[in-house]
Amino acid sequence: MTYPAAGGPAPASYASPNASDERSAVIDLEAIRHNVRRLVAVASPARVMAVVKADAYGHGAVPVARAALAAGAQWLGVAHVTEALALRAAGIDAPILAWLHTPETNFVAAVAAGIDIGCSGWELDSIVAAARDQERPARVHLKVDTGLGRNGATIESWDKLVGAAVEYQEEGLLRVAGVFSHLAVADEPERPETDEQLAAFRDALAVAEDAGVDPEIRHLANTPAALSRPDTHFDLVRVGLGVYGLSPFRGQTSAELGLRPAMTVRTLVAHCKDVPAHQGVSYGLRYRTEDASTLGLIPLGYADGVPRVATGGPVRIDGVTYPVVGTIAMDQMVVDFGPLHVAAGGDSRLGSEAVLFGEGNDGGPTADDWARAAGTINYEIVTRISPRVPRRYINEEPTP
Ligand SMILES: *Cc1c(COP(=O)(O)O)cnc(C)c1O
Repeated sequence: MTYPAAGGPAPASYASPNASDERSAVIDLEAIRHNVRRLVAVASPARVMAVVKADAYGHGAVPVARAALAAGAQWLGVAHVTEALALRAAGIDAPILAWLHTPETNFVAAVAAGIDIGCSGWELDSIVAAARDQERPARVHLKVDTGLGRNGATIESWDKLVGAAVEYQEEGLLRVAGVFSHLAVADEPERPETDEQLAAFRDALAVAEDAGVDPEIRHLANTPAALSRPDTHFDLVRVGLGVYGLSPFRGQTSAELGLRPAMTVRTLVAHCKDVPAHQGVSYGLRYRTEDASTLGLIPLGYADGVPRVATGGPVRIDGVTYPVVGTIAMDQMVVDFGPLHVAAGGDSRLGSEAVLFGEGNDGGPTADDWARAAGTINYEIVTRISPRVPRRYINEEPTP
């Protein structure tokens, strides 16, 4: 089945039976299931929460969530309550945790939908008010900041948060279902701060347990910690990147971790033409052909989520990888096929498939290559592929 666009209904203007043939992010749900099975095995006996925030890092939250649950994930994690509600609206009834709120967050809807709610402090009273409104205890995961400096109660205020939560729990207004924290440098296993965070987390757990908290799940690990630090697993690991088959470690590939990149971004060459030597290419004329040459036009640009700064990023066409030359524009970018390919009797490459990144088989380009070209990380490359690129799902059903 073809989903015209991730993240919502397709604008009518995109509705074309061939839209995903023209350009698409192809999502291999068998790769998702493979990665989840691998992470379940690595994490065992801890359970796996598949993190599907940000439309499953651009892969499509609902189909990825279903595939992850089918492959053994027992929990789903998102940042926003709205993301959790969208999963419920799609009929997904697995446990879901949402952890990033504002004073405008709809906690009433979250409690009504049975969403587990991360709580760093200020949210507690709003959550309790929602529980009163719904006449139903809220399920809360208390979050402690063990060093990341973002969300989470400070160590200094942890006692107070735990005490207040226990009181509300005794009144039947909430259940402290979990205690958690988030790691800052697990992708750099040689750094000492993960040990410090782990020690702080253990201390915070002891404080909570002394106060009478008896959480169902204690959780700390993200993908890099799930893969490299079994001592951080506790009862559950929250894994995002690994579900998508990407490596969080510099110098270790997906394949080396037993993971398969699930997203392939591809399109068709939109124009192929011979040009003279010194032909300028794209805005700013920052590239000129050396000799007479053949240019290929790739109809993807920064509106599709290709970073504008990523000149030099790889495009695989007919088994050869070419770097993008010149400035990446809103809708398009250019590759240089080299000396007079067409005039020399070569076939025009108009309509040839052009792959920006995918599984990386046979030396094909990867999201890591684009991350390097853009000076960013693979997380951002897949997540920023925009809704203008139709998502096409393959291997939707597990093969028996
Ligand atoms: C995004 C996120 C994760 C997942 O991190 P990965 O490195 O992609 O596995 C886990 N926990 C929290 C709190 C997050 O925000």
